[in-house]
Amino acid sequence: MTQTQRPAQVGEVRHLIGGEWKQASDGATFETRDPHDGSLLGLVPKGTADDGRAAITSARTAFDEGPWPQMSPKERAKILHAVADKVDEHRDELALLETRDGGKGINQSLHAEIPRVAHNLRFFADYVSLAANEAYPDGDLFSYVLYPPAGVVSAISPWNAPLMLATWKIAPALAFGNTTVLKPAPQTPLTAHRFAELALEAGLPEGVLNVVHGFGGEAVAGPLTSDPRVDRITFTGSSATGVKILQSAAPNHTPVSAEMGGKSANIIFDDADLDVAVPMSIRAIFAGNGQVCLSGSRLLVQNSIMDEFLARFTEEASKLTVGDPKDPSNFIGPLIEQRHLEKVHSYVELAQEEGGKIITGGARLTGADHAAGFYYPPTVITGLTNESRTAREEIFGPVETVLGFDTEDEALRITNDSPYGLAGMLFTQNLDRAHRMAARWKAGTVWINTFFERDLRLPFGGEGSSGLGREGGQYSRDFFTEPRAVTMRLRH
Ligand code: NAD
Repeated sequence: MTQTQRPAQVGEVRHLIGGEWKQASDGATFETRDPHDGSLLGLVPKGTADDGRAAITSARTAFDEGPWPQMSPKERAKILHAVADKVDEHRDELALLETRDGGKGINQSLHAEIPRVAHNLRFFADYVSLAANEAYPDGDLFSYVLYPPAGVVSAISPWNAPLMLATWKIAPALAFGNTTVLKPAPQTPLTAHRFAELALEAGLPEGVLNVVHGFGGEAVAGPLTSDPRVDRITFTGSSATGVKILQSAAPNHTPVSAEMGGKSANIIFDDADLDVAVPMSIRAIFAGNGQVCLSGSRLLVQNSIMDEFLARFTEEASKLTVGDPKDPSNFIGPLIEQRHLEKVHSYVELAQEEGGKIITGGARLTGADHAAGFYYPPTVITGLTNESRTAREEIFGPVETVLGFDTEDEALRITNDSPYGLAGMLFTQNLDRAHRMAARWKAGTVWINTFFERDLRLPFGGEGSSGLGREGGQYSRDFFTEPRAVTMRLRH
């Protein structure tokens, strides 16, 4: 059997705690199923609070007594590169697991997300050694900064880009010498499990990476956010869960990095090159089945080109192929689960109540190829204002809300009138305007004539309901370490 064909076996998933594969302390399990056809992919331990505490104990022991924090950055980098090598070797297998567990199109899993997993590991492995460090000679005083690891890191990740986002947290945490407890989303546990197997094979010491499965709140994730033995919490998920995690962490003063929801604007000015702006705008909302935090889900089009742009955009949207995500010719796969499909559709119904007009899409696909999965077509809605709930709340599906504007100031006002502030993109050939807009945009990331490009040296995060703090390059170092000032007096 080739790697690509290797299926996740029922019963295969376990917690990884202290180098051992474990069931939940009470033996309970839950199912993970393929959103394309409902087939059972795995039985997963339904972690208890005891499991969470055991994983923290393991990470604590590995940090306090193990070799990992004491290793030189180069020694750690060697192991993290070996883990990345394993990811590269098993790229086909991991991509198929991701696609089956979460419905992500195979092209994206294979050519974007799993390669990015390896890149996350390699980038931070090398960053620790290559980054500049500060020294401040000042007469007879000489000061410098140390960046010792913070300790035990809880990493809580979502289902929409499972292993890519899990390693966006794990890689810097480990590279800077921390030990970790990862809790992947319950909808998509398979790649985290397989990754943990590969990491052990590659030589990651036991207890340095622990993985527990299950749900939030009182269950396994509870201790991950409330146990005083945890030194950092890095979370990616919804803004509502982020608030709960911040509350849970507050009594221990545990620092939290939170990457949360978005409702990003994509602004098309009348001087944009539409041959670029139309296809990019299509990808900006419909890639990943619309389940992307960064997606350009509020499309702002200058009124002078509205008719032309909308005609081209809608035509392209309605041509997108929706179907089995394992088939590389399909662009849109199923949504993650029934509950989420219902949420997405409820927003389309709400949009109509709010006076919106559905230009294309707008109802679940139920034909022979789609009936067994959670398929929703590309949907374009016009006629709403930015005050509507549809335009303000995160839908997290293949649903685009189109709004018109006349002037640059108006576009900026609409853009910044949002509880979110994660990202944004604009298409224009006027460079002055592009940089004026970027300087005044309420967002952690602004893309000009492009989108979704990520350089891991840049800060990543959001304003308002989109996040707290930044990660990436030196921003990850600042979060995952406990910077220490050292000053000595020199005797002359
Ligand atoms: P979610 O908040 O429901 O779950 C995220 C993770 O938190 C899961 O592992 C979940 O089990 C866990 N969790 C839930 N309740 C918890 C609690 N009380 N304590 C501790 N952990 C808890 O989010 P989701 O539905 O999995 O993901 C979609 C959301 O994530 C969207 O809002 C999306 O915008 C956001 N997201 C943000 C980014 C970003 O970088 N800003 C990236 C991807 C996704």
